[in-house]
Amino acid sequence: MKTIAVIGSGQMGNGIAHVFAQSGYNVTLVDVREEALAKAMETIARNMDRQVAKGSLSEADKAASLSRLSTTTELAKGVESADLVVEAATERLDLKLKIFADLDRLCAPACILASNTSSISITQIAAATGRNDRVIGMHFMNPVPVMKLVEVIRGYATSDEVTKIILELSKALGKVPVEVNDYPGFVANRILMPMINESIYTLFEGVAGVSEIDTVMKLGMAHPMGPLQLADFIGLDTCLSILKVLHEGFGNPKYAPCPLLVNMVTAGHLGVKSGSGFYTYTPGVKELVVSPSFSK
Ligand code: NAD
Repeated sequence: MKTIAVIGSGQMGNGIAHVFAQSGYNVTLVDVREEALAKAMETIARNMDRQVAKGSLSEADKAASLSRLSTTTELAKGVESADLVVEAATERLDLKLKIFADLDRLCAPACILASNTSSISITQIAAATGRNDRVIGMHFMNPVPVMKLVEVIRGYATSDEVTKIILELSKALGKVPVEVNDYPGFVANRILMPMINESIYTLFEGVAGVSEIDTVMKLGMAHPMGPLQLADFIGLDTCLSILKVLHEGFGNPKYAPCPLLVNMVTAGHLGVKSGSGFYTYTPGVKELVVSPSFSK
């Protein structure tokens, strides 16, 4: 396996491309928006600069990694010679089904199609292709260059051979893969999202404020980041999509997304990526500032 295409160059796509390029693979990053590709390349270069400053990457390896990366807005061009495609586009079922149907048509028959989806059924995504044995979940964690875990999700029809290849490949990237089966939210988000949703309900019902909730979980449970800050970091739109998948998939009201989360997403307050969520994010400002809507 030498050539990888990454579909979607948002916060996950740029991290996935970074890790593959740094591990010696040729990577083409594909997005529908030229500006998203430019931003991704800037982010990758900046994150590699940080690694150089810390001494975990040499200048020469940085230059070599960057030279292995290219970008395009044309899906056909981006995937024509790919051995593996990792899809990391927006968390929407209709979008993923369309992308996978296109990938099936455009990619070589041996190409493995992986999705970085947080919660959408791999079995359902695979059914949009004529190669459901070669479709698998490769769920990286954010920020990808830092986080060790890859949740490897076997769809109902994913073959043993493809699962083995992806487990080995994840190790070659310096990650620790964990194999799980395909049920709503898999393992990571089935456990994480109800906690995030409950923290939003706790705020919504006026039990405590934003910093109070996050402080309780940071200092009381030794979480490195409070659940509201983590929700901002993941993206509130992504959190809402995952909760909807859990709610619909299990038919259990305990997963119903908090109305406050629904309102925030509808208003475009998506967290770090939009500059405002439970906290506000201004470039150059490191201190956590609670959003005006939630400050007393
Ligand atoms: P994001 O909003 O930062 O980026 C999504 C990108 O997809 C955007 O640049 C958008 O232009 C692009 N896109 C949309 N339609 C496309 C298409 N048809 N072809 C190519 N590109 C397209 O989202 P993200 O946080 O990077 O999430 C991407 C995926 O990763 C989602 O499935 C999400 O559930 C999953 N994920 C997210 C996190 C997280 O912490 N944010 C963690 C693990 C997995």
